[in-house]
Amino acid sequence: MDLDAPLTELRGVGPKQAERLARLGLERAHDLLLHLPLRFEDRTRLTPLTRLRPGTHALFEATVEGTEVVRARRRMLLVRLRDDGGQIVLRFFHFGPNLQREFATGRRVRAFGEIRGLPGLPECIHPEYSVLRGEPPPLENALTPVYPGTEGVSQRLLRGLAAQVLPETARLPDLLPELRAQGLPDLAAALQELHQPPPGVTNGARSLQPIGDADASRAGPAKPGVGPEHRSPALTRLAMEELCAHQVALMVNAGQRPKGTAPALQPEGRLWKALVASLPFALTSAQQRAIAEIGADLARERPMNRLLQGDVGSGKTLVAVAAALTAIEAGFQVAFMAPTELLARQHLRNLAAWLEPLDIGIAWLGGRQKKSEKAPLLADLASGQRALAVGTHALFQDQVAFHRLGLAIIDEQHRFGVHQRMALRDKGSGRTPHQMIMTATPIPRTLAMSLYADLDPSVLDERPPGRTPVKTALISSERRDEVIERIRAACGEGIQAYWVCPLIEESEMLEAEAAESTAEKLRAALPRLRIERVHGRMKAPERDAVMEAFRRGEIDLLVATTVIEVGVDVPNASLMIIENAERMGLSQLHQLRGRVGRGARASACVLLYRAPLGETALERLEAMRRTDDGFEIAEVDLKIRGPGEMLGTRQTGERAYRVADWGRDRDLMDAATRLAQRVFRDPSRARALIQRWLGSAVHYGSVG
Ligand code: ADP
Ligand code: MG
Repeated sequence: MDLDAPLTELRGVGPKQAERLARLGLERAHDLLLHLPLRFEDRTRLTPLTRLRPGTHALFEATVEGTEVVRARRRMLLVRLRDDGGQIVLRFFHFGPNLQREFATGRRVRAFGEIRGLPGLPECIHPEYSVLRGEPPPLENALTPVYPGTEGVSQRLLRGLAAQVLPETARLPDLLPELRAQGLPDLAAALQELHQPPPGVTNGARSLQPIGDADASRAGPAKPGVGPEHRSPALTRLAMEELCAHQVALMVNAGQRPKGTAPALQPEGRLWKALVASLPFALTSAQQRAIAEIGADLARERPMNRLLQGDVGSGKTLVAVAAALTAIEAGFQVAFMAPTELLARQHLRNLAAWLEPLDIGIAWLGGRQKKSEKAPLLADLASGQRALAVGTHALFQDQVAFHRLGLAIIDEQHRFGVHQRMALRDKGSGRTPHQMIMTATPIPRTLAMSLYADLDPSVLDERPPGRTPVKTALISSERRDEVIERIRAACGEGIQAYWVCPLIEESEMLEAEAAESTAEKLRAALPRLRIERVHGRMKAPERDAVMEAFRRGEIDLLVATTVIEVGVDVPNASLMIIENAERMGLSQLHQLRGRVGRGARASACVLLYRAPLGETALERLEAMRRTDDGFEIAEVDLKIRGPGEMLGTRQTGERAYRVADWGRDRDLMDAATRLAQRVFRDPSRARALIQRWLGSAVHYGSVG
């Protein structure tokens, strides 16, 4: 097998799966080797039903006693199982007619999942299961890995792929033999151990919690307070290599600017003037300054490469529109890209409201679009018929061609990797488009200088008038009832509220499930309120409909996963509850909190945490309470957790690191940097290392 081959060469991966796997940063066979399990599950033994304990994961086997479809607020399938003396209910929210048929009465079922419910009355939601026919298959004889996943990519697939590439481990060249001299295992041995630890050893995984500790096992790798003592030599070996690769990439990247020439865009300014005249407010002076800086850049042939930083609510979109109108009036096209479908659609709505009166044609390119819808839009972009393309990652795809792309605008850059920035730049068909990146994650200057040496910063350091600061409280989840009372009171006065559910990295399904069940519990506790939920498993139209109803004030309490993190703008929402706040990154909390405090009313944010809080976790949450200045929060985050966390987000492909974790591994940084200086002097080694860890899409022109 060729470890550089695209994943479509592997069994079980078609073009569609490949696209989904790419979201996890998995493009070539060797990427699978670097995609480490989050944790391991023990499926080597069966637990009798009478011994199932809520809060643990377990493998069990029993006989189907009956099934039933119930319609509470949601349709769900219940499957009752029984074995000698014990019982359990399996619950499925997503199911078709086949599923019910499969669980015919009397069949034997083997299932694995998190046990919930009450002692003696256990239940299990969406377990992994198999219906047994004939002789039951043997139990696993090794621990079962759980990999970071994404929508539409099952653990089964990830395990199958890992099994295909693992035998090739020894063929991955060891690019850093120096590390052996430091007593670390070589690359092959390290990978082998991390993917398939010998029985009894599980601390190779990034999450080091005891098996069966369901709560801890969900916290994922960004769990605060996990230090180097939790790192096996195998993990140290890989973390060193990754940190080293990033340092080499920074050394190469520093000072590098996009090559080629861009079109000089210097129209009269008729479109922008028309728009400004129609605005119900005046621009802030920070907006005016940024617009002037960008205008000067666009007028040159040197490709603009600008980072627009501004806290949530500082009005970045309008600055982007000013840039877009400049390009369009000069006869060029603009690509406007956002990291999530929800955010991209919100941009689409705002942009349409502002630009359609100016007779500007917009093409929407989303992930879930039908070919037949997409085709005419693609044709219009290729012919130049439509001047503006708005969308998600879909804009990067090969089939998207522009007639004359003059400007690429990327919102919330920290969600995209360096690779993707580069990919969009390549769509300029001969000329290099100007590029503007917007981020609401204030990047501390020290970090910006090394990570974004190639970008010129513009900063919106002023918020539009009329906002009141958000008051933040830290409350232990044991006092959840008081918080629910507070929601009752607030919504009684006509306030709208958000309830944000915890992040669950390994599965969007479980995360969605948490939102569904939280919404149900809150409905039971607050029967008079109109409560809805939104999460990543809902179809886009349904999700949009819920958001739209919330915007119109027809929903009192919106239970959401972190999909609302970026960009959603509902001024009447002025209370936010964030569950398990201690699991989230500070920049993410700041983004979430930015969803309230958008109207004139005083707003509040409650950070619910699970006690006891460690020292670091307390320090982080205290910082959130102390200030709502995004730059100050970013400095704290950098000090406590480092750049990996700052720039990181939930998905591996979007996270700064695949293996390393700044909170745990920063003690390795000095050694990694020293090693990087050596590697940097050897161009072919440097290139191989960068390609392995940062992907071949990165064009580090001056390497080699
Ligand atoms: P962000 O920087 O978070 O992307 P937005 O661009 O979404 O912020 O702007 C937040 C809100 O503020 C929007 O409703 C926008 O129309 C409004 N807005 C933008 N600029 C101003 C301004 N100068 N005065 C008042 N409101 C503004
Ligand atoms: Mg925005």
